[in-house]
Amino acid sequence: MPDVVAVDLGGTNIRAARVNERGEVLARDKTATLAESGMGAVAARMAELVNKVRGPETIGIGVGTPGTPDPDTGVMKSRAVNIPDSQGYPLCPELTRITGLPAGADNDGNLAALGEYWLGAARGEHIVLLFTLGTGIGGACVIDGHVYHGHSNLGTEFGHVSIDYNGRPCPCGVLGCVEQYGSAAAVGRDAREALAAGGKDARASLLWKLCGGDPAKADAKLVCDAVRDGDAYAGALLDRNCDYLATGIGALMNAFNPSCVILGGGMALAGEIVVGRVRTFLGKNRAYAPIFKDARIVAATLGDDAGLIGAARIAFDKAGVKV
Ligand SMILES: [Zn+2]
Repeated sequence: MPDVVAVDLGGTNIRAARVNERGEVLARDKTATLAESGMGAVAARMAELVNKVRGPETIGIGVGTPGTPDPDTGVMKSRAVNIPDSQGYPLCPELTRITGLPAGADNDGNLAALGEYWLGAARGEHIVLLFTLGTGIGGACVIDGHVYHGHSNLGTEFGHVSIDYNGRPCPCGVLGCVEQYGSAAAVGRDAREALAAGGKDARASLLWKLCGGDPAKADAKLVCDAVRDGDAYAGALLDRNCDYLATGIGALMNAFNPSCVILGGGMALAGEIVVGRVRTFLGKNRAYAPIFKDARIVAATLGDDAGLIGAARIAFDKAGVKV
């Protein structure tokens, strides 16, 4: 059975896995990214890792990178985070030159959505929207098994949909982006502010206890931990962030009419504590009711491997093998 090597280019490590047509991981390895060594050295290390992980039946390479590699040519269009000279670098042509294998690349968030479509929470779904809840909010859309890229590969920036025309300024230049209100970073910031300003309720809360009485220690994980243990104060805080999040997600659901909405990233690990709240607010008044009724709202299931599984999928696509 043919297999491919999937690669995930991260800020700290390059991870690789050999994956067969059934999506089974046959081998794994990783190496340090050493971003400061420059894109040529990073690509050479990546190729070396591929050669280590590949087998006799390996037919191609799929790479997930930060930024926006051109999905047709595999040339890095924008600078990948922390790698100084990555913009314009012909990543896939270079990997092919060294390894002799065809290579495809895409943004790591897009590939996470494709991975969830192939083998995860959105298996075989018609139209999938992914929201990755971390420091920011990443977005991706998969339609009939194909990543939707937009006119210049800049589409599906779901975190930068504005939910308040006069709201908090976002580094992207837009006011009131949903990631300023519904990301894990925003949950932590709001909790720290509320605890610091808080009166009796704040000090009596389990969240206060979990922070050891130091508001500066609050973050999204502690908020979710407190909610899980029944803390009403933390529950009310999280309600607000999840309603903001649902407002952004609802706008995008109205635009795409998806069959499945996946919440991924660190904050979605809290499961129904977050996903259930978002679903409730969407159903109440944040999405057009018939569109909401037709969509499953679920947590991602592949975790850190989603991007690798998606990268394997584009490697098979690139090699012309139907899986
Ligand atoms: Zn923004």
